[in-house]
Amino acid sequence: MKLKIAIQKSGRLSESSLKLLKECGIEFDNGLNKLKAEAYNFPLEVFFLRDDDIPQYVEDGVADIGIVGENVLLEKNRNVKTVQRLGFGKCRLSIAIPKDKTYKSAKDLKGLRIATSYATILSGYLKKKKIKAEIHEISGSVEIAPGIGLADAICDLVSSGSTLFTNGLKEVEVILKSQAALVSNKNLDKEKKALLEKLLFRMNALRSAKSNKYILLNAPNNKLKTICDILPGMKSPTILPLAEKGWSSVHSVVQEDEFWEIIEKLKANGAQGILVVPIEKMIL
Ligand code: ATP
Ligand code: ZN
Repeated sequence: MKLKIAIQKSGRLSESSLKLLKECGIEFDNGLNKLKAEAYNFPLEVFFLRDDDIPQYVEDGVADIGIVGENVLLEKNRNVKTVQRLGFGKCRLSIAIPKDKTYKSAKDLKGLRIATSYATILSGYLKKKKIKAEIHEISGSVEIAPGIGLADAICDLVSSGSTLFTNGLKEVEVILKSQAALVSNKNLDKEKKALLEKLLFRMNALRSAKSNKYILLNAPNNKLKTICDILPGMKSPTILPLAEKGWSSVHSVVQEDEFWEIIEKLKANGAQGILVVPIEKMIL
C-alpha cells in the first residue's frame, strides 16, 4: 500500500514541492522526464504532472493527494479537499489594462474584452460585481493580447509585476490571492489516511521549526528571573551555569514574529552574547 502524490512536473511549483518532500525526509530519484518515482524510505509514489491536471487526477483517485496552486484549484473546480496551504507559490490573479488608460473602479471594465486562461474565476468575479464584459479565453501568453489588439484587458497571474510592466500594462484589480496547497481525494481509505497523517505530522514539524528560533544567551544570575519571564520557551527556559561565577547560560525558543521585541527586552535586562540559531525540525 502506497500513498500517491501528484506534483508539478516542471514549473514554478516543482522545486518547492520536491524540497518539501525532501525536508520531510522522503527520498526518491527524480530523474528528468520521469513520469513517476517511488520513495525509498516512505510508502509514497510521486507522479509528475502538468499542474492543470492535478485536481482531476486527485478527484478521480489516480493520485491520492497533490500539490497545486489555489488558482488552478478554483479554476478547475474539482471535488477535492484542501488539506493545508503550503506557503509557497504565492501569486495573485489580477486584471491589468494598458498603462495609458484611465481607471477609477471595476465599473470601467464594462464592455471590455478581457483575455485570460482563468475564465471560470474571472466570470465569477464579473458576475459578483455585476459587470458585463467579454471573456476571451486563451491558454498562454495572455500578457501580449492587448498589444496585438486581441483584447482590451487581461486577467492573469502576477507575482512581481515585471511581466506586466514590460508589456505596457498596469494592474488595476486583484481578484484572487493564491499559494500552493496540499489537496486530497475525499474518499481515502483508513490506511491512506494514516499515511497522510504521518506526512502532515512531518510537514507541521517543519512549519513550526521555520517560524521559531532557538536562542542562547548569557545572563548574570541576579537577572535570571526577569530574563526567564521575558522568554516564553516550549515549557520553560533551560539554565546552565557558566564557568564564570555568578553567570548562567539561558536557552529557549522564540517565535519569529515576536523575535525583535524579545531581543530588545533581553538586552535591556542585562543579557549578553545572544545567539540565535535556526531550528530544523520541531515536534511539540
Ligand atoms: P504546466 O506546464 O504544469 O501547466 P504552467 O505553465 O501552467 O505549468 P507555471 O507557470 O509553472 O504553470 O505556474 C505554476 C503555478 O505557480 C501557478 O499556477 C501559480 O499557482 C504559481 N505561480 C506563482 N507565481 C507565479 C507567477 N508569477 N506566474 C505564474 N504562476 C505563478
Ligand atoms: Zn499549467
